[in-house]
Order: sequence, then C-alpha cells, then structure tokens
Amino acid sequence: MGRLGAVAVLAAMLMMNEGQAMEIQQFKLDNGLNVVVVPDHRVPVVTHSVWYNVGAMDEVPGKTGLAHMTEHLMFKGTPRHPAGEMDKIVQRKGGVQNAFTSYDFTAYFQKVPVQELPVMMDLESDRMAHLTLTDPVFQPERKVVAEERKLTTDSNPADRFMEQVMRRHYAHHTYGHPIIGWRQDIAGYTVNDALDWYHHHYAPNNATLIMVGDITADQARPLAEKYYGAVKPADVPARKSPVEPVRKEALSYIAVDAQVKVPLWEVLFRAPSRFHGVADAKPAKGEATALWALAEIVGGSDSARLYQRLVVKDGLADDASAGYDAIRVGETTWDVSVQPKDGVTADKIGPVVWQVLQDVVDHGVTQAELDKAKTTLLADEIYGRDDVFNTMYRLGVWVTAGGDVKHFDDWQGELRTLTTADVQAVAKKYLKSEASTLAVLVGKPAQLGTLQPTKDN
Ligand SMILES: [Zn+2]
Repeated sequence: MGRLGAVAVLAAMLMMNEGQAMEIQQFKLDNGLNVVVVPDHRVPVVTHSVWYNVGAMDEVPGKTGLAHMTEHLMFKGTPRHPAGEMDKIVQRKGGVQNAFTSYDFTAYFQKVPVQELPVMMDLESDRMAHLTLTDPVFQPERKVVAEERKLTTDSNPADRFMEQVMRRHYAHHTYGHPIIGWRQDIAGYTVNDALDWYHHHYAPNNATLIMVGDITADQARPLAEKYYGAVKPADVPARKSPVEPVRKEALSYIAVDAQVKVPLWEVLFRAPSRFHGVADAKPAKGEATALWALAEIVGGSDSARLYQRLVVKDGLADDASAGYDAIRVGETTWDVSVQPKDGVTADKIGPVVWQVLQDVVDHGVTQAELDKAKTTLLADEIYGRDDVFNTMYRLGVWVTAGGDVKHFDDWQGELRTLTTADVQAVAKKYLKSEASTLAVLVGKPAQLGTLQPTKDN
C-alpha cells in the first residue's frame, strides 16, 4: 500500500473513531525507578534508555550548562568500568549509544541485540550510582565543553543570535539559558558543582528506564530489579523555574551580523504546553492539541496559509512555516519562521505575516483545512512509531515533561473531536502582539529596510 492509500485509510479510521493507541507497559521498582516497556518484536533488537528528570531548566544563573557538562562526565567511567570501557563494550556487542541534554531532560541510550540487554543494564545502573568524579577527570572535560561551545554556538551566527533572542524572550524563566551554558559559566564551575548535580539528580527515583523492542515488561522486570534495584534513591529537589510574568508589550531583537548568509525572520508567541500554561496559569484541556492543529494549518506545509501567501502569492520569501512544541515542563512557544527572498527587506515580512494570522483570529479556519490537518498529524505520528528510536524518544520527552504514559495517546481523541471553533479560540487567545518576540537577523544593514537594530545590553 502506497503512502497516499495509507493516509486515506487513516482518514477513514478517524471518521470511525478507531484509535491507534500503542501498547505501553509500565511498572515501578521499590527504589522509585519508573520502567516503561513498548514491545516490538519485528527484529531481535532493543533500545535501552534512561531518562533523568533534569536538564538546563533546572540550572541556576551563573551555573548554566551543568546538565550538559554532567552528560559528558557520565562517559568518564566508574571503578568497575573505567573511562572508555563502556563505549568499547557497546561496540563489541554490535550496538550504538549516545546521550542528549535538553531543557527538560538528560538521557542516555543504547541500541543493542536483545541478548545484550543485561550488559547494558549493568553498565547504565553502575554509572547511575558510581561515577568517578574527581578534579583530574573534571578539568579536561570542562575544556572539551568550552571548545564545543566555541565550535558550535560561537561559530554559528544563527545560533549566537537565537541565544540572545531566547535570553530576552525568557528573561526570568530558565528556558532563557543556553543548554550548552554561557561561556563564563563553563569557565567557572568546579568539580563540586558537578558532584552536587550528580548526587541530587542522578537517582532511580528521578529517572525513567524506557525500553522499546523485542522485550516485554514480564521479561524486563527481573533484569531491572537485578541491575537497577540495588541503586539507592536520593533526596531530589522539586523542579521549579522562576515564573515568566505576563507581558504588557511586544519584544524584539533585531541584529546585523556580517557572517549571516541567509537572513532570518521569526516571531515567537508565548503559548501553553500540555503541562503548563503561560506565566503561572494552568493549561486548559485541549488547547495544546488546538495549537498543534493551528500550526499545521497556518504553516505546516507548502500548501499551508503562510507559504501560499508569502512564497507563492506575494513572492516575498523562499520559505515560511509555523511550529509548536507542546511537550514541555513549562510554557512553550508557537512560532512563525520566514526566510525572506534575496532583495526583499525584512520590514516587508511582518505586515504580511500579521495579516495571515489576523485573518485566522477574525475568521477562523475552514473545515477542509482542519480535516486535512487532522489526517496529516495522525499519519505523521502513527508512521513515526515504526521507528523504535523515535518511539523511545517521544515517550522519554513525555515522561520527563511530567506526563503519565497512560495518557500518552490522549491527543488522538482530542484531535478527533477538535472543531474549527477550538482552533480559532486558541488563535484569538495566544497570537497576541504583547505576548510576542520578534527576531530578525540579516547580514547587511540594508536588508533590514526600515527596521532598526537592537542596541545590545
Ligand atoms: Zn556536548
């Protein structure tokens, strides 16, 4: 069956109210470790991952980047498995491994033949409790991270710029910190900072073990008990971030950087995530799903409103899209991103984007647009589950944001019953100028048109 045929079948399923909930098994160890298993027996492989409920959002000013720094240190070995040994074992067993740090989580994963699962559990549980963390280990790795910052953020004008945009957009909330950390913070923290971080956050009662692949909860439980069961729980501080207060006026950050080859025009709106409202508000049920559909209709594809208007009709841009990231611990953003065409000044973009958005606020979206968005979103999600890494990742993001896996598929029911009025309501509520941050980056002052660069502070 080709892709088009499959999409039609999914559309029919939506009509018939048939869900596509995934089989998710879950249990908890006595030490508090949350264990999630998604059986997928197509190939004898398993993705084994540990997700800690800690990330850049948990950092304090002056110590930014510690979550990412600790991720690096987790590869520095334990008394039983010295530095480098884990990598060698994973390779020898025919596996791959990696780790990632984000605002809401720090995660470690290995993909291995299923018979090697006990070895992975042994290695991962060992470094959950027995990391070797001394100054001679710490200092060289701190330099590695400083160098990483130089080669990534500091060498990339768009990344440097977005760091400044987010610092302004989240002036109070820790989402305004760069994940890699500010340069002066990386230069300043010590092995004791890392030890504190590790001891307070790396514990079974602050983690979820997620396995996707050729395994069931019944098979996983005795193994998890054997390897992870011995790790002691810790006193884990509650997660909190300073509240980003309600704003009274729009923000903007406009910059010229001679290194920029492709100009960038963006507007970010403050928006609720599934788990947290704007400022300190509670998220209203269904709003995240409505904002998700709104992003698809306004800017999810070449046939969406922004692209049709800015690229096809007006010829002002090479690309135009909208995006929304619903699964966060805190509030999130609903964004429009435009790449102005060569020769079109950045000041020409805003008025047209605002017309497109205001039209949705005033007149809503059509039933045909909503039906198409529902089918596309459902298809993308369901097909995405064919990839075990993707399934593991989505579940990890969900649980570390505060989600219960029992509700992982609730969006399907919400999407099915979503109406055009729901979509218009969130557009009206959240696409407001005073809740927005405009971000414009160009290579030459002339590309700004009438816009003025922001004075740096
Ligand atoms: Zn790194």
